[in-house]
Amino acid sequence: MVKIKNKLIIGGPCAVENKTQLYNTFQRIHNHVDVFRAGIWKGRTSPKNYSGFGIKALPWIRDIQKKYNIPVAIEVGTTKHVELALKYDVRKIWLGARTTVNPFAVQEIAESLRNTDIDIWIKNPIISDMGLWTGAIERFNRVGIKKIKTIYRGFYSENKKTYRNEPRWDLLKVFRKRYAHIPIILDPSHLSGDTKYIGNLVQNINREIVSGFMFEVHDNPNEALSDKNQQLEPEEFKIIINKLIEKSD
Ligand code: PEP
Ligand code: MN
Repeated sequence: MVKIKNKLIIGGPCAVENKTQLYNTFQRIHNHVDVFRAGIWKGRTSPKNYSGFGIKALPWIRDIQKKYNIPVAIEVGTTKHVELALKYDVRKIWLGARTTVNPFAVQEIAESLRNTDIDIWIKNPIISDMGLWTGAIERFNRVGIKKIKTIYRGFYSENKKTYRNEPRWDLLKVFRKRYAHIPIILDPSHLSGDTKYIGNLVQNINREIVSGFMFEVHDNPNEALSDKNQQLEPEEFKIIINKLIEKSD
C-alpha cells in the first residue's frame, strides 16, 4: 500500500535497541510508511558507541514483516550480514555511507547477491566522490541486480554549516542527470542531523528529483542510543507525512 502517490515512505529507528522499542515504534507508524527501516548492525565511528542489537533482532524483524505485511529494510556491511538477512526473509537491504566508500566491501556484497531479486539501496559515500558513488552502483549492475535505488544523505565536511552533512545539491543534480533511471530516496535525518530541520527539508525538496524519503523514527528519541537529535518522535513524524500528503497530487 503506497501512502503517498509516487513517493516511497520509509521510517523506523536508527538502531534496534530492544524488543519493546522496536515493536512500539512500528505499531505507532505502520499506517504512515510503505517500508520500515531498522539498523541492527551499526558501523559506528567509535567502538565505544552502541553498535546495534545484531542477529537477535532478526526473528523480530521477520515477525513484524508478517504482522503488518510491510517489508523491513536493514543495513548490511558484510557478506555475513547478507547471508543472515536472506535467511530471515529480509528482501530490502541498504549499504551505509561508510561501506559505499570501500570497493572491496561493495564488490563482495554485490557478488553475494548475484542474480537474486533483492532490492538494494546504496547510500552515497561519506565523502563527496562521485566516482565511488556511481562505481558502487555499477558493481551491483554488473552482477545482475535489477532493483537498485540510491539514498542521498549528504557528505561529510570539515566545515559544517547548518546541517550535520553538506547537502551538495549540485552533486545530487549531476547524479540525477547521469543515472536518470536510478530512483533517489532522500534521507533528511542523516542529512540534517536535527529533527528541527526535517519538516522544511522535505517540504522544499524538488519533488521531481526524489522518489521517496527515509526517516529515522524512535518511540522515545530522548533515550535513543544513537542519533538522538535526528530521530523523530512518531507524532512529529506523522505531522510531516500528513503535510507531504496535502502537497501531493
Ligand atoms: C543509518 O542509516 O543509520 C546510517 C548509519 O546512515 P549513514 O550510513 O548515512 O551514515
Ligand atoms: Mn542513524
